[in-house]
Amino acid sequence: MNIIAQVKEIEKKISGKILFNESLSKYSWFNLGGPAKVIFKPKNLNELSLFLKSIKGFNNIKILGAGSNTLIRDGGFNGIIIKLGEAFSHISLFDNSTIIAGSSSLDKSLSNFALENSLSGFEFLSCIPGTIGGGIRMNSGCYGEDISKILLSVQVIDFLGNIKVIYSSDINFFYRGCDLDPNLIFISATFRGENNDKNTIKEKMNSLIQKKKKRTNLQKSRLVVVLLKTQQITELGSL
Ligand SMILES: Cc1cc2nc3c(=O)[nH]c(=O)nc-3n(C[C@H](O)[C@H](O)[C@H](O)COP(=O)(O)OP(=O)(O)OC[C@H]3O[C@@H](n4cnc5c(N)ncnc54)[C@H](O)[C@@H]3O)c2cc1C
Repeated sequence: MNIIAQVKEIEKKISGKILFNESLSKYSWFNLGGPAKVIFKPKNLNELSLFLKSIKGFNNIKILGAGSNTLIRDGGFNGIIIKLGEAFSHISLFDNSTIIAGSSSLDKSLSNFALENSLSGFEFLSCIPGTIGGGIRMNSGCYGEDISKILLSVQVIDFLGNIKVIYSSDINFFYRGCDLDPNLIFISATFRGENNDKNTIKEKMNSLIQKKKKRTNLQKSRLVVVLLKTQQITELGSL
């Protein structure tokens, strides 16, 4: 059975959305790109696991977060795109310094949540337009801070549908990347912050946002050039 026929069989058993030959442009921050053979938006973790188990052996799969570090070719992607939605966007406080966040939560939402709970260390996330999943993959950061400094562990599912937890101490992070297997889907992550005064946290957030605005002028066209210069196009180009 070819992959489309396999996916059509799975479609009968789940309630999450499966789209065929759908344009990826609305899934990219840059609003560019051709269609994907299949886009799968699981309704929950159970469906994601069932889907992966049913297509065992098919590895041409890519995960998309907010698409803010992804350029999609006009020719599109001849495989399966997995897009995690609301079921993976929870954020909660575990204890007074630990936050657990779903991988489709926006960086900005995690930063705001940390502020509400008087936790510092997350301020830089307010400047980055991606999701937690994309942030971990890219070790996103700015102004001397990055995800690796606050991450305790990440919960992942592999393309065979197996779940495991990987501790941050077992991950090799480097500038805008990490050595986590590309065939892993991040589901959620645990972060540690430091208790601090809300006003101090808010001031730091505002100052970073202002600094960033001045430096980048946040022009999309200019950022494409920045991405090309920093070689992230290799990551993007693989789509
Ligand atoms: C205006 C602008 C400003 C930016 N500023 C910064 C900055 O200051 N610092 C910085 O580091 N970056 C910056 N970026 C780049 C980008 O926002 C970050 O790299 C961001 O973390 C990418 O997140 P995303 O969800 O958009 O990832 P995507 O572009 O969707 O994906 C990026 C990579 O992560 C993988 N991925 C996404 N989600 C998951 C998941 N759940 N499981 C496994 N893999 C996953 C994708 O497969 C892909 O390989 C900027 C981009 C823009 C457009």
